[in-house]
Amino acid sequence: MTSTNQSIVLMYHGTPTANPITNYSLQACLFQRQLAYLDKNGWHFAKISDLLEDKALPSSSVTLTFDDGYADNFENAFLPLVENGMKATWFITTDCIGKHAQWMRPPSEQTKMLSADQIQEMSNAGMEIGSHTCSHPDLSQLPFKQQLDELTRSKQILEDIVQKPVTGFAYPFGRYNEDTLQAVQAAGYQWACSTRSGWFKKDDNPLLIRRVTVFSGDTSSVLARKLNFADNDVSLKKLANYYLKRLKTKLTPQP
Ligand SMILES: [Zn+2]
Repeated sequence: MTSTNQSIVLMYHGTPTANPITNYSLQACLFQRQLAYLDKNGWHFAKISDLLEDKALPSSSVTLTFDDGYADNFENAFLPLVENGMKATWFITTDCIGKHAQWMRPPSEQTKMLSADQIQEMSNAGMEIGSHTCSHPDLSQLPFKQQLDELTRSKQILEDIVQKPVTGFAYPFGRYNEDTLQAVQAAGYQWACSTRSGWFKKDDNPLLIRRVTVFSGDTSSVLARKLNFADNDVSLKKLANYYLKRLKTKLTPQP
C-alpha cells in the first residue's frame, strides 16, 4: 500500500509506441509499467466525477487524465485500462477530432487525434469524456464571448458524439483568467482541471482541480515520488532540500 491516503489526479498526453516527440507524452511501454505499479500498490482508479461525488472513496484514489485526445491513447492507454477494468478521464479538442493536433508541427503519427467513433467507443466503455475547447487556444488571451464560444461549441459537439452530458473541462496550456472561470460556468460545466500541482481535495474550487504532470522520462520510481509529494518536480535535489528544511525546522528551538 502507498504511504499516502489521499486522492491525486495525474495528467498525461500522448502515449506513442515510439520515442515521444514532446516531453509531455509518455512512451507506451513506460505507461504500461506505471499502470502495473499503480495497480500493484493498491491505488483505486476513479474518474473525476467519482472524486467529486459525495460518497466516500477508497483511500488512495488516483485519476488518470489525458489531454488533447491523441489517437495513440486508444490502443496504448484506453485498451489496457479497459482490459484491467480501470476508468480514466479524457479531454478532447474538438476541431482536431479525426485530424492532427494543429498546434504541433509538422504533422506526424504522434500528432494524430482520436476519431469520433473511437471517442464514442471509449465513452460507451465507461471512460469519462470532457472538453478541452474547440481549437486549443490560450483562453486567457481571448475576450469573454470568444471563450464562451470555445466552451459551448466543444461541449455540444462532444455531447452529440457520446450522447450523454459533458460536464468536465480542462484548460489548454493550463491558462485561464477571471472571464474563463465565469465562461466555464455559463457554458454549463460543473468542474474543470488546471495544471497546478497538488492533492485533490473535495473542498477546493471544483473549477481549479489540481493535477500532477507526468513527463516523458517518468519511470515508475519517479511516479512513486510524485504520488508521495503531489508535485511535478520530484528531482532528488528538490527532495534533498525538502528534507533539509524539515530537519532545520526540527532543530530550531521553538519559543
Ligand atoms: Zn492541451
